[in-house]
This record gives sequence, C-alpha cells and structure tokens, in this order.
Amino acid sequence: MNDCIFCKIIAGEIGSTKVYEDEEILIFKDIAPIAKIHLLCVPKEHFAYLSEVDGARAALLGRTLQKIGKMKEELGLGDGYRLVINQGENAGQTVHHLHIHILGGEPLPWEK
Ligand code: AMP
Repeated sequence: MNDCIFCKIIAGEIGSTKVYEDEEILIFKDIAPIAKIHLLCVPKEHFAYLSEVDGARAALLGRTLQKIGKMKEELGLGDGYRLVINQGENAGQTVHHLHIHILGGEPLPWEK
C-alpha cells in the first residue's frame, strides 16, 4: 500500500532495525519501545484488521505465532513475553497494517 509506513519498511524504503525476516514476515525493533524488548512482527502482505482475515491469512497468522514461539530464546524472550495486537481507535492503533507487538525482557506491568 503506497502510504503505509510498514509497507515502506518492508520494501526497504524506510530504515528499521531488523531482527528477523523471511518470505512472509518481518520482525523489527519498535522505534518507541515501552518495554526492555519491544519488537513488531508484521506480515509482508498489507492488511489492517483481523476482520479481514480469510483462511490463507489465518494460516499465515498461525505460522507467525508458531515462529515467535520457536524463536523466543533468540529474541531474548526466554523468561516470558506478551503479544499485543491493537485494533482500531479505542485500542490506539496508529499504523493500519496488522502488526503484533512483542514485549518482554523484563517483568511486564498489567494495567487497564
Ligand atoms: P499501534 O499503536 O499498535 O498501531 O503501534 C504502532 C507502533 O509502530 C508504535 O509502537 C510505534 O512506536 C511504532 N512505529 C511507528 N513508526 C515506526 C518506525 N518507523 N519504526 C519502528 N516502529 C515504528
């Protein structure tokens, strides 16, 4: 998508600190971390919302979660981590390209 910042990061048009990349996902460091480790995992295919997930995208998201789980040690998340997907205005979603926040590296607060 032309004006999507994450599509530009995926295309290499905007710099990022990449942590992992394969043919279908990219994991990079969040520019404004809220935890000692704060990564963003994005599917390379542009879509914004879980309501847009069809069978193929569901399978992609399943593989993505499996990948994060298998990579937890090399991502520095061996002591535990939290995954967050913000969806829409009330959740404060600012980038409308589906992404999974990966938070860890320290005990995480749980606040509402
Ligand atoms: P959300 O509020 O769930 O849409 O999260 C968007 C996240 O993207 C925020 O945590 C931002 O700090 C992060 N972000 C925005 N621009 C960049 C960028 N150029 N590189 C890395 N992270 C970014």
